[in-house]
Amino acid sequence: MRTPYERLKKLVGRGVAEIDTPAAVVDLDAMHRNLNRMAEFARKHGIRWRPHAKMHKSSALARLQMQAGACGVCVQKTAEAEVMAAGGVHDIYITNQVIAPVKLARVAALAHRLAAEGGRLSIAVDSGEGVHRLAQAMNQARAAGGVPAVIDVFVEIDVGQGRCGLPPGPRAVALVHEIRRHAPLRFAGLQAYHGGAQHLRAALERREAIAAVVQKVQVARKLIEAEGVPVPLVTGAGTGTLVCEAASGAFGEVQAGSFLFMDADYAANERDPAQPLFEQALFVRTQVISVAATHAVCDAGHKSHSIDSGMPTVLAARQPGGLSFRNGGDEHGILVGPRLPALGEHLWLIPGHCDPTVNLHDHLVAVSGGLAEGRIDRILRVDARGAST
Ligand code: PLP
Ligand code: MN
Repeated sequence: MRTPYERLKKLVGRGVAEIDTPAAVVDLDAMHRNLNRMAEFARKHGIRWRPHAKMHKSSALARLQMQAGACGVCVQKTAEAEVMAAGGVHDIYITNQVIAPVKLARVAALAHRLAAEGGRLSIAVDSGEGVHRLAQAMNQARAAGGVPAVIDVFVEIDVGQGRCGLPPGPRAVALVHEIRRHAPLRFAGLQAYHGGAQHLRAALERREAIAAVVQKVQVARKLIEAEGVPVPLVTGAGTGTLVCEAASGAFGEVQAGSFLFMDADYAANERDPAQPLFEQALFVRTQVISVAATHAVCDAGHKSHSIDSGMPTVLAARQPGGLSFRNGGDEHGILVGPRLPALGEHLWLIPGHCDPTVNLHDHLVAVSGGLAEGRIDRILRVDARGAST
């Protein structure tokens, strides 16, 4: 019996119509346009881009982003970093706090492995205890026979989301000094990401939110520099606000991830005129399996797409008046509208939120030539799926 991957591989070169459902499908042409627009945007603004790989969880896509000019990738989890490294990505930043010694031992081992290959691992911290534990793990990894390695450490400041991070004040400065007391740690700069600002619908609201972020960054930078310590880099920004951080002059690196695939939640944002046009590139292909007088039912439920940011929208192809999607459970979607689709008809869903949608799939079917007439170009493994520790 064939594995699901073997079955999918057999489809390479065949038409889109042969994709079995439900399936996560990437429109490669749209994805490449997104990639090129981001690369061009970064070049124009003289800013580095380090896309967040938590979105696609694919080392193949991470490598593709680096070929297009990304300086490396961000990840959220130690295990994601390990998968990216195994997949040939050598510059990885864990934009998150790691506290468990069992994880820090893996972080330190990976930092040594990447350094030996000429690469680099970076990490965020927001506590003295976190710094102490990280230093201990680095020292232990060194003692275990690693070549001397340094890990880049960013101090996370809370710039408005109320998640991780210290206020831009004396505690942040003290943490910088604490980092500098440990030889295997290098103070690399500030992590300043405002997740809550990404989906403020009005472009002006997002601009105002990031203006406040920039102020906080500047306060932190001044306090640190006043002690004679340079701040090498400020990193942050997601797809919703990257134009603001890039234009601010306060940030040296942007971390946007969703721009590559996009989703219905980002499509609902008013586009900032300065933002590159990012197109929808991730779809869930689904088939109508039942039709009633009042509704139709398709084979994609919330095991095929996330629903944390709302239901998927239905790509309007041959549906005058459109179809709306209602949750029908794990494996069903309920479709209502002025013209119901026929039994057996295929539809394309635009997921509400790309990251958790990708995380539901082992593979992405990558199509070139468009969704209507295209061919299956390759099967992308979501190799960091399940890499959550
Ligand atoms: N940076 C950090 C720390 C994040 O948590 C996220 C997403 O949540 C991003 C960057 C990327 O944001 P987006 O995928 O919305 O572009
Ligand atoms: Mn997201």
